Amino acid sequence: MDEQNKLILPAIAIRGLVPLPNVDFRIEVGRDISINALEEAEKMYGGNVLLVIQKDPNVMDVTPENLYPIGTLAKIQLKLKMPSGNYKVKFKVTDRIKINEYTSFSPYLVAEYQKVQSINLGDEEELALVRRVLDLFQKEGKTFLVAPEEVSRLLQSGLTTEQTADVMAAYLKSADKYKYLEEISVSRRLEMLIEDAAKEKKIIEIENKINEDVKKSIDESQKEYYLREKMKAIQTELGDKARQDEEVEELRKQIAAAKMPKRIEEKAYKELERYANTNNQMAESGIIRSYLDFLINLPWYKVTEDTNDLKAVEKALDKNHYGLKKVKERIVEYLAVKMMTGKNPSTILCFAGPPGVGKTSLAKSIAEALGRNFIKQSLGGVRDESEIRGHRRTYVGALPGRILKAMKDAGTINPVFLLDEIDKMASDYRGDPAAAMLEVLDPEQNSNFSDNYLEEPYDLSQVMFITTANSLEDIPAPLRDRMEIIELSSYTEYEKFNIAFKHLLPKELKNHGLTNEQLEITDAAMYKIIQGYTREAGVRELDRLISAICRKTVKDILIDHKEKTVITPENLADYLGKVRYFNNEGRNESQIGIVTGLAYTQFGGDTLDIEVTTYPGKGGLILTGKLGDVMKESAQAGLSYVKAHAKELGIDGVDFSTIDIHIHVPEGAVPKDGPSAGVTLTTALVSALSNRPVPANIGMTGEITLRGSVLPIGGLREKSIAAVRTGLKKIYIPEENERDLDEVPEEVKEKLQIVPVKNIAELLHNIF
Ligand code: ADP
Repeated sequence: MDEQNKLILPAIAIRGLVPLPNVDFRIEVGRDISINALEEAEKMYGGNVLLVIQKDPNVMDVTPENLYPIGTLAKIQLKLKMPSGNYKVKFKVTDRIKINEYTSFSPYLVAEYQKVQSINLGDEEELALVRRVLDLFQKEGKTFLVAPEEVSRLLQSGLTTEQTADVMAAYLKSADKYKYLEEISVSRRLEMLIEDAAKEKKIIEIENKINEDVKKSIDESQKEYYLREKMKAIQTELGDKARQDEEVEELRKQIAAAKMPKRIEEKAYKELERYANTNNQMAESGIIRSYLDFLINLPWYKVTEDTNDLKAVEKALDKNHYGLKKVKERIVEYLAVKMMTGKNPSTILCFAGPPGVGKTSLAKSIAEALGRNFIKQSLGGVRDESEIRGHRRTYVGALPGRILKAMKDAGTINPVFLLDEIDKMASDYRGDPAAAMLEVLDPEQNSNFSDNYLEEPYDLSQVMFITTANSLEDIPAPLRDRMEIIELSSYTEYEKFNIAFKHLLPKELKNHGLTNEQLEITDAAMYKIIQGYTREAGVRELDRLISAICRKTVKDILIDHKEKTVITPENLADYLGKVRYFNNEGRNESQIGIVTGLAYTQFGGDTLDIEVTTYPGKGGLILTGKLGDVMKESAQAGLSYVKAHAKELGIDGVDFSTIDIHIHVPEGAVPKDGPSAGVTLTTALVSALSNRPVPANIGMTGEITLRGSVLPIGGLREKSIAAVRTGLKKIYIPEENERDLDEVPEEVKEKLQIVPVKNIAELLHNIF
């Protein structure tokens, strides 16, 4: 080749792209060396320029080693200057060329080159290949080409085999295109196209598979996250953003501040997330909110420090309660064990006794002395397990159980927790609340107490439970086993008198803002209040009456400007109305067919009159007054005894087949049961049948057998106190109960003659 025919043109180095002949090529030109070449080509070479390809697109400096030997010849068709100073250029690419030599590198590339001719046989093989390529394009163009529509447009303009090969290669997705420039055989280029198309197809298949796998591996939480985001988006779109962010933030702070156990905290945050995404018009929103509030307000770690000072406990108990010496001793012993071992004793204290005798206030004093918070939850009438354990949150209006509700109020995890009236729980078809209570009270189990509403275990092990009951028989045996029973019994009049002056009156004076100088109740008046206005085992009513007197006194002072009120037996009626009970009077005469029995109820001891009357009939026995089965049987047994011993009893003249006997126990609305009315029923029968009166001021108690033996009874102390209260002077008790006489308070013994009897004959002989 001689010097004259040497082909020389400016060259532009292309990074990352491969221009191919027969296809327009667009790039942005920015490097100085390229801009210079561009301008020179336009000025001096009629827009003709060489496009050479950089091996490593990341290198900015242009060196011959970094340029491929094969490039293209192109003509500038369009050149636009950008604000950045770069040029957008469109080239018409015409030929493959081979660079022989670079003659200059500055200020732009200049190369000496020669055109490269493709080998284009046009034979059958080539024809078959091009058909195959076109076929692939028809079927799967999308899989291996970047802009199939553009290719389609170009194809329709009518292309040669070589042009077809170049166009396809130019729009191939595959990045490695230099080989299409380098290859001179058109058939080979077509083969390469088929290979690349297959490769792309494979890649797409693999991609799809990966996508699927990835999709599968998006775990539940991510999925949930996406869904929530989506929901948020929808709600925002609808213009009612579910929740004020501030409220959610506030709750988030509260959750953090509540210092919950890890698991609960995580749950709380999850619920919060749910809350944030629930429209507040929806019921669901309120349910979640209550749940969150509950989690936040339930104590998790907060404790009060116990004062481990037994002396202080003793003092607190003495300060708040009169008497109860034994009870206080046992409480102190119980707490001593707690202090020694540093944990709650495994048995639970149970205060058993009639209402108003100080069970609740004792428990309160214990809390006060220990420095613990105090809560009380009544179990009376609980018949549904879910009242203890709560309802699942799926229920509308679901609530936590009574235990956790009270814990929320306690505010600490170690309060003194009074479970009031544990004997009044009943079980029915809705489950057995006693079983749930067992879990509450069992130190082995209660560190993981489960509440349906909370859904997570809650630790009750630091709580000091104290229970109260009116009657021990009604506590289910397994529960009773867990308890250390401390019995409190009725107060005598003397005790009430002392409690009134030492505790109730000072307390009520204080409550009403009064002083001793403004209100005085004389001793005699106090006794009259106790005897004439109350008839109770405890001191609740007494407390109420004293409170009533205080109220009236306040009125006296404020309205009538009275300086001092003195309550005496004479003016008592002005304050409390007419005397309600006349027990001590009017008990002196004797009556036929009416006998006073002594009963032991959950309200303490009581007296009850039994009336018997007979009239012509057919040998029937009528029992009225809401008698229980045991009492009815006692009546039958009594009657049998009377019939069998008619002769000794002096009633052999009676023809039982011609009379009906009616036994009635007044105060008909009050259910009565128990065997200890046996002697009373029998005595009343004998009195009625033999027309012999029985003194009204004697009472009796005892179960009888058909042979007439008198069996022992329970509650002697209570019954004797009640006897005095009712104004009886003498009571008959079973001989075997003599050993219980120690329990009977001295002041009762002073006022009451207590006569033990072995059998009914002895008793009847004594009376008649
Ligand atoms: P319970 O729980 O046994 O039904 P409470 O504890 O409610 O009875 O007692 C009722 C009221 O009587 C309370 O005001 C209590 O302080 C008072 N009370 C009971 N027993 C005594 C006592 N021994 N000394 C002082 N106050 C007493």
